Amino acid sequence: MAQVVLFENEEHRNILLEDHSEGEMVPANQHLIIHKGKGMLLDPGGHKIHSQVYSDLSASLSPNDLKYLFFSHQDPDIVAAANFWFMMTPADGLISELWLRFIAHFGVDRMVFHRIKTIPDRGQSVDLEGAELSIIPAHFLHSAGNFQLYDPVSKILYSGDLGASIGVGYRIVEDFDAHIPAIEGFHQRYMPTVKVYQLWAKMARKLDIETIAPQHGAIYQGKENVNRFIDWVENLPCGLDIMEDIYGSA
Ligand code: FE
Repeated sequence: MAQVVLFENEEHRNILLEDHSEGEMVPANQHLIIHKGKGMLLDPGGHKIHSQVYSDLSASLSPNDLKYLFFSHQDPDIVAAANFWFMMTPADGLISELWLRFIAHFGVDRMVFHRIKTIPDRGQSVDLEGAELSIIPAHFLHSAGNFQLYDPVSKILYSGDLGASIGVGYRIVEDFDAHIPAIEGFHQRYMPTVKVYQLWAKMARKLDIETIAPQHGAIYQGKENVNRFIDWVENLPCGLDIMEDIYGSA
């Protein structure tokens, strides 16, 4: 299983733990940020992959040095194995306050439940051993309580489901136009309305982003493709904007 270094300097590393899903599971990426020997694991995933992800993570970081588990939202491909991670590492979990009580249904043990910390709607910054990471709002992209994580050191925006592609055979988007068919259907059907894309695009343009790393599929690297994605999604009718066609034809 591949571990891909997306960014590296003397004290900071961003590692993609590439897709361990199989069979009927939606393919998913896990991401690890390490700063001065302490780590944050993003969207750790479900039961069938946790031991693989754990052993991959252990190659780069002692599990005892994992400080945070970031959950962009409540979907099972993100939080299903939360209990495993709370049992096997000392990390605190970070998730929207909207989903705290729902996570309990994935079987999070009472002993560790207090380690789940809730993120307020406006987001917050998180200190990872001196690196200030920004949790920023991504509500309704697609979940009602949804966040992304911006790392100002690597200039990577971890975008969760936004920008996700399924079934592409490449890791990096080289040709944005050729990539559109792999993202269009998802971004039209899972997201609620173009207004949220417009709000997000306005916020994203204020950040200095070199890389957009979604939880599924290929990564957008370099300012040109980052901006192509922002421009494209900002004008994409979706969800409610196109529901009349579906209800009307029933
Ligand atoms: Fe999701």
